[in-house]
Amino acid sequence: MQKKEYEKLGDYGVEFKNVISGPAPVGRVLNYVIRAGNRILNHKNGYRSLDLKDNVGSAWCTEFMVGLGLIFYTPDKTLPFYPINLTEKGKRLFAYLKGYGGLFDENNDPSECRKQLMSFNEDAYNYLETVFKNSIVLKNLVTYMVNNETNVFLKDIFMDDYFEFFKELYEGSSEYNRNARTSTAKNRVPSLIQFCEFFNYVTTDKDVNGKTIYIFQPEKMSAVSGDYDFIDLTEDVLKDLKGEDSHDEKLAEFLIEKYGLDGTVVHEIISRNSSVQRIFRNNLIAKYGLKCMMCDKYIDEVLVASHIKPASECDVVSKANCENGLLLCALHDKLFDRYLISFDFTTGKLLYSKVLEGKLEEYQLKENFTLNNELLTNERRQFLMEHNIEFYKRNK
Ligand SMILES: [Zn+2]
Repeated sequence: MQKKEYEKLGDYGVEFKNVISGPAPVGRVLNYVIRAGNRILNHKNGYRSLDLKDNVGSAWCTEFMVGLGLIFYTPDKTLPFYPINLTEKGKRLFAYLKGYGGLFDENNDPSECRKQLMSFNEDAYNYLETVFKNSIVLKNLVTYMVNNETNVFLKDIFMDDYFEFFKELYEGSSEYNRNARTSTAKNRVPSLIQFCEFFNYVTTDKDVNGKTIYIFQPEKMSAVSGDYDFIDLTEDVLKDLKGEDSHDEKLAEFLIEKYGLDGTVVHEIISRNSSVQRIFRNNLIAKYGLKCMMCDKYIDEVLVASHIKPASECDVVSKANCENGLLLCALHDKLFDRYLISFDFTTGKLLYSKVLEGKLEEYQLKENFTLNNELLTNERRQFLMEHNIEFYKRNK
């Protein structure tokens, strides 16, 4: 049988220790995401305590979170701990979770934690599932089942087999003592199993000899689209976009000439814009997370990728350039689009029109609001400057 290839560590920027690591209960992962989002979580190599002394996470758990694509840290030998940063996926999950008041249950049985998360925010649950499905951690498990032509494994030997197989695959070493007092596999593979239990991807049963078996549900595990990946605007992509543009413009010209400006033509124009708009939006989300940059609203459907320089005045390159964008909720997008608000191009401070005086609260604006510093790139400032000029012109 042709073997299916396993994921490459380099494609995910991870190491073997990130792929099979643990124990990392789902609840602890969620609690750590919240701490990392609040910038109070650190990593220390080999640190195994679970009591979060000095806000240092359990190393096993933080390594696994790197494997899931939620966090990253940069080793720095001069520091006792390494600060943990959220990836774009981590930021998005944090946006869902940060309003959660308590702690998620960290027990080995994940059912309580599932209940907590589902009743707090179902979107958070769905997004965590998307992250898991698109992770190297789960994709490898699916491939492992395909290559072994089974989804049923004896619990006793599965963990050892699984760990040993990947250790050899990624580290080229099969030196692994199955009889060591603390088997590494027994400590590490359970985080994978617990995530599978959390999402109901696995059940346990007994075989004819009364031994526990895992029954995985591969049909539930396939990776999903809809995750937002950053689209790099390389020369090729830009050429494609330009090509697409001029093609559609020619087509539009042809159709207008032939049929007049009817629905067909309108449809053609919209479909061209929407693919550029999609790249623009995805890039903003991938870079800054899924939330309004002013008020932190995070419901996908009401968030607008707003052009700073109006799209109608942009060529396709600046139309797709996320430096020319802010992610705003419907309300704030409208205010920004109509030049009722702007952001000072030097400081990022909110500027607002006279008509909004005394009504700031009503429009969910804060007098002293300032754009996050990471948004104030030189390029975005240029676009903001143009927006400022128009703002002052209209609000003299
Ligand atoms: Zn908003």
